[in-house]
Amino acid sequence: MSVIFLTALVVGVAYVIGLPHYWSKSPALTFLLVVLGNYLLLNIVFHYWRALWLGPGHPPERALVRQVVSVCKKCVAPRPPRAHHCSVCGRCVLKMDHHCPWINNCVGHLNHRHFFLYMVYMVLGCLFVMAFGFEIMWEELFAGPAGGEASRFDQTSDIFNCEAKSLYPTRQRLR
Ligand SMILES: [Zn+2]
Ligand SMILES: [Zn+2]
Repeated sequence: MSVIFLTALVVGVAYVIGLPHYWSKSPALTFLLVVLGNYLLLNIVFHYWRALWLGPGHPPERALVRQVVSVCKKCVAPRPPRAHHCSVCGRCVLKMDHHCPWINNCVGHLNHRHFFLYMVYMVLGCLFVMAFGFEIMWEELFAGPAGGEASRFDQTSDIFNCEAKSLYPTRQRLR
């Protein structure tokens, strides 16, 4: 759940802050970024889902295991080469890599490819957000668009000055 929440948060921020920022600059570039961003997002979701639902693969039960290196003491079953027992899943896993808490499953023989691609597209997605979010961060924190932030502040103070000026004669008149 935390993976879905964090990914949705980053995508949400990109749409709420990033999209209007780039749209005001260049709609063509924004279109390109939306297509690229959604391509990365689609791959992230697809490979995450496949790694999650495919599972790592387990040694066959009640079937002949042709190659056996040992017997798993916990499963009390023959263990093929490169299979390991996962204490979290409580089962033997084929070509076990590790138990991943993010997909709440083991990474092994069947889902290794999807897990790896999920990582690759996640890194690309993070780099994408960082690369195109950097400009927004820079403008907000340090540079300020030409007259953008400053003018907003000036407008507020102008309104305040106008009110002060309009109040001033009234007070004088009252005296
Ligand atoms: Zn086992
Ligand atoms: Zn596991």
